[in-house]
Amino acid sequence: MLIQLERTHEEPFRWEETLEIPVAALERSEVISLGPVEVAGEVRFTDPGYYLKGRMHYEQELACDRCLGPVRVEVDEPLELLILTHEEAPEAAEQELEEKDMSVVHLEGDELDTEPLLLEQLQLNIPMKPLCRPDCKGLCPRCGANLNHETCSCDTHEVDPRWSALADLRGRLAGDEP
Ligand SMILES: [Zn+2]
Ligand SMILES: [Zn+2]
Repeated sequence: MLIQLERTHEEPFRWEETLEIPVAALERSEVISLGPVEVAGEVRFTDPGYYLKGRMHYEQELACDRCLGPVRVEVDEPLELLILTHEEAPEAAEQELEEKDMSVVHLEGDELDTEPLLLEQLQLNIPMKPLCRPDCKGLCPRCGANLNHETCSCDTHEVDPRWSALADLRGRLAGDEP
């Protein structure tokens, strides 16, 4: 959606849109799929700048951090941004807003394209280490078996190479004994 900011000078501009964003646009390999993104919001002129408030709702499917299995996550998040155009960016005011934990977006011109802005919010809403369940056992580092569904016979007891050298030496010493 392209919003002409001038339109908000008289009254707040309200809009609703559904975005189909290709998952590749997120540039995050852990996102398997992304459903339609429903957005409803309002932009009002706050002199200086513009205040955008709204809500976004969608579903995303992520790869579990341990077993790579799919994790469905429903996202329903508020949107709150301050938009400053080139002319109206008094530094003091901006600092104050950032201290209040408000995201500030700088804009060239007086036309607001919601898509790049929403894309950034989508990226922020990707959890760091999604898990299919809190006790996911993950994959065997040797054979790749999904340990949630099967057990494998791999010896995953990694031996530190320094200890294994010592073990060899001990073995040889033991062999020398009469
Ligand atoms: Zn998992
Ligand atoms: Zn294994």
